[in-house]
This record gives sequence, structure tokens and C-alpha cells, in this order.
Amino acid sequence: MSDKYEVVIGLEIHSQLNTKSKMFCGCDNNAEGKEPNSVTCPVCMGMPGTLPVINKKALEWTFLLGLALGAKIADQFNFERKQYFYPDLPKGYQITSQTTPPLIGGHLDLEIDVDESRHPTSRNSLTIEHVHLEEDAGKLIHAGDHSLVDLNRAGTPLLEIVTNPDFRSPLEAKLFMQELQRILRYLGISSADMEKGHLRCDGNISLRPVGQKEFGKKVEIKNINSFSSLERALEFEIKRQTEMLDNGETIEQETRGWDDAKNITVSQRSKEMAHDYRYFPEPDLPPVVPVKAFDLENLKKQIPELPAQKRKKYVEEFGLGKTEADILVGDMGLANYFEESVDMVKTSEGSQNIIKRIANLILGDVLAYLNANNQNILNFKINEANLWDLATKLESGEISSKIGKEVFIAMAETGKSADEIISEKGIKQVSDTGELEKIVSEIIAANQGQVEQYRKDVEANGSSPMLNWFVGQAMKATKGQANPGVVMEVLKKLLG
Ligand code: ADP
Ligand code: ZN
Ligand code: MG
Repeated sequence: MSDKYEVVIGLEIHSQLNTKSKMFCGCDNNAEGKEPNSVTCPVCMGMPGTLPVINKKALEWTFLLGLALGAKIADQFNFERKQYFYPDLPKGYQITSQTTPPLIGGHLDLEIDVDESRHPTSRNSLTIEHVHLEEDAGKLIHAGDHSLVDLNRAGTPLLEIVTNPDFRSPLEAKLFMQELQRILRYLGISSADMEKGHLRCDGNISLRPVGQKEFGKKVEIKNINSFSSLERALEFEIKRQTEMLDNGETIEQETRGWDDAKNITVSQRSKEMAHDYRYFPEPDLPPVVPVKAFDLENLKKQIPELPAQKRKKYVEEFGLGKTEADILVGDMGLANYFEESVDMVKTSEGSQNIIKRIANLILGDVLAYLNANNQNILNFKINEANLWDLATKLESGEISSKIGKEVFIAMAETGKSADEIISEKGIKQVSDTGELEKIVSEIIAANQGQVEQYRKDVEANGSSPMLNWFVGQAMKATKGQANPGVVMEVLKKLLG
């Protein structure tokens, strides 16, 4: 990108709430796999004479998100009608709360340590303008020369999160979306799956000459349905707008669509074609006074520890690396599993090593096993206490890493403890010093060159990388059954 212009991005994000019923009727809010138009009723199909009723859970979850994002909860807000005519909206209007939103302000903090030259002004606290609650529309399915309508989605509770134009790079926008997805999932209010359209977003982007205060005219990009397409669409617009500005052209406010296959944005409509929605308060619903409807203090207590806090704890208290912490925190189930395993670590001496070992087991063997067997951490058979026990045995050298792998698989398949597996399989560690001395002596006799190297290193530096090579040889000779701690002792003794 040219460094003549500064990039300005703001996001409008939609997140479906996964309440049991829809926003204003009793219809099942989960229509996955159901026949089109089978999860509908006169209210969500917009029949004349029907009356909407507010879903209290959807209100509660809106405030829960507000508390998690540090937003101000409105003293009072209205549902209102937003009029527009489109076949996916049978009433001819959408019930929303856009002009008197329930949540105002708020922020999401990101630790972005990326290339400074690409993100010259990136800030860590990204602010939210407002969040409103509304109903989703139905879905149109275009089939050849005609279109079909499916109203199963009509009336699904939908949050719209509108950010301020705080982002200065596509990467920042993507990281924000990913963190928001985690927060929605931790709160348990949305499955926030972008592929399924539970989480969607429009990207607004403009450029301005560096040093200029006023923002440029923004272009809104619609039809973004993955994190990667969000980043690519914004990158494309930066290139397109930079070229236009370089050629002396002016950028007009317009809405563009993202074509994921072609990797380009395409003009959809200009500002002149903007709608006049003629908002007015929904006459069939009362204004909402949050403090009257909910005990907000109590609601605040329901907020679980959020990803940012967990990440900090994992790095600062548990001594994990940032990448490890990120992966564990990425899935609340995995994070909980990790923390419950760590809870078993009671001794303070060496506990950091065991914690790291637990983390490594989860990030390595556990994730690989879950992937290969199409399982989820929630139904994974090794419980937290048994994982901790395995980590402890590996750390003390009671079992070698090679035997550890075998024991791990058997534990994951049966749900049994390491001790049960070890005794069932008749796994025996060779810890008998005499037996190991014999094996090690043979290795030493057969590898005089390496022995010489070892002694030279020790003389020069006090230690030698050859020691690990010898441990490896001993493990090989015992088919992994030697106790690594004892092997180390024997080697040091015999190598002199
Ligand atoms: P509108 O009135 O068209 O809805 P808003 O001011 O409400 O516009 O902003 C809609 C979204 O566009 C917000 O996410 C906001 O952060 C973003 N936005 C507003 N102005 C700009 C701009 N000049 N460049 C990039 N994004 C912008
Ligand atoms: Zn309904
Ligand atoms: Mg607006």
C-alpha cells in the first residue's frame, strides 16, 4: 500500500442470538436442517392482526454483552419499525431498535503486536458506537429465473454491533471480529459461526491523505462471510481506492458487494439510491426500561472470565507462551479443560513445568487425537485428573515420552487412568540400574567417536549436546522402555 494515505475502517456486525425461541414469537429459533418455512407462525410470517411479544432472554443477553463490552445500557429504549419492501420481509418493515439503541459505547481491547510499518497507528482499544437488537429477515434462494423465500430465519433475534471507524488496517478488523466471536461464544449467547451466517459483517472503508483530519467518503462492503474474506475485501478496496486517488478521481459513497470467487468488490448501489426507512416507534410494543426489567448487577456476575483475562493469566501466572495461550483460549471448552487439569497441580515445586507439560499435551496429543477421531473436547474420554496424572508421570520420568504416547492413546480410547493402562498392558519401565548400565556400556563401546566429542565438549563448556544423543540411543536400545532419568544418571557416570 502507498504510504500517502491512511486507511479508516469501521464494521457493522450482525450476530444471531441462539435463544430457544424467536424474537417476537414462540417459534423454535433453531431451524437447522428443517424444511423451508416449517418453523414459522402468523407472527413471524407477518400476518395482519398478529401481535409481537418481546423475548426476555434476548433482552437479557443484549445487556450481558453490553456489560462484557463496557457499554452504557440505555435508561430506556424503543422498538421501532424500519420500513422497506423486500420479499424476505413479509411485514414490509423490520422491528429494530436502531435509533434508540439499548447499548451505547463500549470497547474491545486487542493486543496487536504486528508489523508497525503496516499498522502505523494501530490502537489497542477499539471502540463501539452502539449495539441494537432487532429481528433477522427471511432468506431468498435464487434458482434460475425465479426466487424462493424461506422464512425460517425471519424473526431470529439479531444484534447489530456498530463500531466507530477506529481500525487502521484490514488485519485489525479481522482480529476484532475473531475476538468478538470468542466473546459471544464465551457468553453463550451466539454460536457466532460465520460460515452458517450466525455472525456476519459489513466493512466500511475510506482513505484519507496522511495528516488530513476529515475522513474520506466511505465505501460499504456487503456479503462478507468469513474472516479471510473480510481481510481480502478490505485489502482489495485499499488497492482500488489508492489507484483512484492517485489518478485524481474522487471516491463516491457507495455500497459494494464482495465476490469471493473473483476476489473483487463490485458496485451495488450509490448514495442516491439510499432508502428512506421512515422509522417510527413500534405501536404494539412498550418501551423497555432495562433497570426495571433486570437486576443488572446480578447479570454482571454471570459474565465468565473472558478470553483477554484468560490469556493474561496463562502467560503471566502459568508461564505459557503467547501462541500457546491464544490457541487454548480460542475454544472455551479447551480452556476449561486446561484450567481444570492445572487445578490438580498442587505442589508448588516444579508445578510450572507440569503446567507447561499439560499445555503441551493438550496442544499436541489431545488436539491431534480429537482431530483424527472427529471428537470434541467435551466428550473426550481422558478426564482432567487423569491428564494431570499423565503429565506428572512424564515430568518425573516415571514413564518415557515414547511409552507416554502409547499410554495416552489407550487412555483416550478407554477413559482409564495411566496406572490402569500401565498395569493392563504390562508396561514395565526399565529402571534397574544394573540392567541399564550393561546396555549403556555397550553403546559407549560401539561409539567411541561420540564419546570423544562428549568429553571434549564437557572439558570446554561443562556440558555437551552429545548427552541427549546417548539418551536417544539408550531409549532406542530399550524400545523406549528405559526410565530417562535413570539413563541420564548412568550415562553421566559411565561417560565420566
Ligand atoms: P451511516 O450513517 O451511513 O449508517 P455511520 O456513520 O452510522 O454511517 O457509520 C456506519 C459504519 O461506517 C460504522 O461502522 C462507522 O464506523 C463506519 N464509518 C463511518 N464513516 C466512515 C468513514 N469515513 N470511513 C470508514 N468507515 C466509516
Ligand atoms: Zn413465529
Ligand atoms: Mg448509521
